[in-house]
Amino acid sequence: MKHPYSTLNEMLKATYGQKIRKICVDGGFSCPNRDGTCGVGGCIFCGERGSGEHIDPSQSIREQVASVLQKAKPDSQWIVYFQNFTNTYAPVDVLRVRYDAALIDERIRILDIGTRPDCVDDTVCELLQSYQESYEVWVELGLQTANDETARRIHRGYDLVCFREAVKRLQAHGLPVIVHIIIGLPGETIEDIRHTISVLNELHIDGIKIHSLFVMKDTELARQYEQGLFTPISMQTYIDRTMEAVLRLSPEIVIHRLTGNCLREHLLAPDWIIERDLILYTIDRRMIENGWHQGLWYEADCSM
Ligand code: SF4
Repeated sequence: MKHPYSTLNEMLKATYGQKIRKICVDGGFSCPNRDGTCGVGGCIFCGERGSGEHIDPSQSIREQVASVLQKAKPDSQWIVYFQNFTNTYAPVDVLRVRYDAALIDERIRILDIGTRPDCVDDTVCELLQSYQESYEVWVELGLQTANDETARRIHRGYDLVCFREAVKRLQAHGLPVIVHIIIGLPGETIEDIRHTISVLNELHIDGIKIHSLFVMKDTELARQYEQGLFTPISMQTYIDRTMEAVLRLSPEIVIHRLTGNCLREHLLAPDWIIERDLILYTIDRRMIENGWHQGLWYEADCSM
């Protein structure tokens, strides 16, 4: 079944002639939203490992990459994704050493860096730009929402102005930007999601990852959930809101993800998060049955 939206796999196949897989790397970074620089404790949903819980933290960066590539086919191609915490949160000399430690094999095509908008100044952009001679370079920013009130509620630690400036700075350096958003944040309505998508359309970002909010054990969100202060949305609401986000999203923006992902042993709620295939199948089927596709409502808005 062809997806009624543009997917990362399709884009990579068109560019590289094959599916490209990802090696997720823990680069040993921290986050200014956890170490006291702009906050302590981090975003309320963030786990102890700052994402990438499946990565073996005892391995060096080089070992993390090598352990995957030694089992990989000679003609395979790879993305190295620095995932955990804030992967531009260090002096540029340190960043260069850590990125270089991962770029150890000619099968690596793409260097993908996950970070925060308040950690991408000009020196960071220039460093990332320097890798474009040999690699495609992507930068992933965790926005979650364009609503500053929700951002305060989840302790994100920067505002929408900061995000807009970071996107423009990265784009001015020719760096593609992929943005993470979350559906199901406390207090958010469908209007907030419409606003978030319209901001991303206006900024002409390159890619999007849409996640469902889930409650991981040992987080601030888990404490709020256990005290009855937070209730997750239902799977049906997630599907409805995600579908509307896709319909309103510019067709130029590539969809990298449409669901969240959490290891079962770390998940507190909701249970439906693990039904990834069912969620994706339902979104695809409903869109196809209705003759809908990514950008349908964006195009309608633009033509008014
Ligand atoms: S910015 Fe990312 S790593 Fe830092 S606290 Fe928030 S979710 Fe965690």
